[in-house]
Amino acid sequence: MRTDNDIAAHARDRMPFANSVEGEQWQANWCARCLRDAPFRRMGKGSGCPLLLVALTNRTPAEWLDGPRDERGRYSLAEQYVCVEFRAPGDGGQSRPRPEPRGMDGLFPRPQRRIRTLVSPSEEVPASAT
Ligand code: SF4
Repeated sequence: MRTDNDIAAHARDRMPFANSVEGEQWQANWCARCLRDAPFRRMGKGSGCPLLLVALTNRTPAEWLDGPRDERGRYSLAEQYVCVEFRAPGDGGQSRPRPEPRGMDGLFPRPQRRIRTLVSPSEEVPASAT
């Protein structure tokens, strides 16, 4: 996950939810099951998920991509956004590349580690396309 400052700097200047019911429904489906927020949620340890903190300042984290919409643009409250940082229970933590076997070279060069840029799709799907 990006740093707190990066998350705040890239957040969109719009309220993520129209009201508290929307926010509660979405968080119940995502954050209540997410391992990233589990230590804070269950034991009060750590500082909790920084994405939720940004959302509480009425900004939408870039990590929250718009969820599926129907042909009229309607969405379910539980799927309003897809959080790309969601870690499902049993996920096993952050994925890491496997090391090369001892005494052997890899088949392909490994890419440099970089910060991911998260952007929502910019093109609207026309209603007639569905
Ligand atoms: S990473 Fe996403 S799903 Fe997990 S607690 Fe944070 S905002 Fe919620």
